[in-house]
Amino acid sequence: MATPHPRVYFGDRIVDVADATLGVATSSVLYGLSVYTVFPVQVDGTRRSAFRLRDHFQRMVESCKIIGMDRFADEWDYDRFVSVATELVAANAPTEDVFVRATVHVDESIAGTRVRGCHTTVSMFVYDAVPIVPQDGMRLKTSTWRRIPDDAIPSRAKVNGAYVNSVLAKQDAIDAGYDDAIFLDGNGHVCELSAANIFLVRGGTLITPDVSCDILDGINRRTLLTLAAEDGIPVVERTVDLTELYIADEVFVTGTSAGVAPVTEVDGRVVGDGIPGPIGQALRKRHAAALRTDELHGWVTEL
Ligand code: PMP
Repeated sequence: MATPHPRVYFGDRIVDVADATLGVATSSVLYGLSVYTVFPVQVDGTRRSAFRLRDHFQRMVESCKIIGMDRFADEWDYDRFVSVATELVAANAPTEDVFVRATVHVDESIAGTRVRGCHTTVSMFVYDAVPIVPQDGMRLKTSTWRRIPDDAIPSRAKVNGAYVNSVLAKQDAIDAGYDDAIFLDGNGHVCELSAANIFLVRGGTLITPDVSCDILDGINRRTLLTLAAEDGIPVVERTVDLTELYIADEVFVTGTSAGVAPVTEVDGRVVGDGIPGPIGQALRKRHAAALRTDELHGWVTEL
């Protein structure tokens, strides 16, 4: 991840990044008991706008609810979230697009393995919007690490501790010379990447694992499903076999930090013609435009 810009929201104010520190004995540090999101902010001169901010906030509320971090919903609402994001971005005055990472930390000291009712602190910081995967055709490898199932640590809760699973898979993929990993579930079905959702195209139909396949309910995944349906592309959410990726016409991934990025190789097999496919590339363009201007869906919030 890129370096945070100098001013950071921490606790209830904006401080220098060096002053935004959590104690070593907090449950956030000790058990990974934090919930987060990363949302994009587009910068066009003096105009700054966030994409699907309400959905990011809502997913944080839902993640906290699943984990039992109940004080976040008591103490925060969407208006407060928008006003902090606005103040923070203004304080850093970025000249190019940025990402904002917002986290709710359980910051009680030595709370033990208990979470309900614990004190939480929110942090938010800005960093350069650099994609985490190649944008011109990436090579993926199936991970030997399985995706954590919903009945162990639910993927739909974006909880920091669960990202140990992602780090294990991504590190192995990088070590083996690939760009990212594909997670399978315990039955060998395709879930997602370490930090992105996956799509394939077969015979003109867009296919993606459904939300009960141990995936994060990605906001850009939802966006692509909407845009594709509006463009008349047949869309199916269902269980996906790994071997379907091997014979797909196109494969691509979506995520705030991944963008809409084509996949040209899976487990040493060339995807389609070995170049980014037409449906994925058309949706990539539609998505890039929607990030900045979207009168139809109300996805863009001026900051
Ligand atoms: N899956 C995982 C595991 C992720 O970490 C992310 C990134 N947040 C995604 C999918 C994509 O989600 P979104 O489109 O909301 O960024």
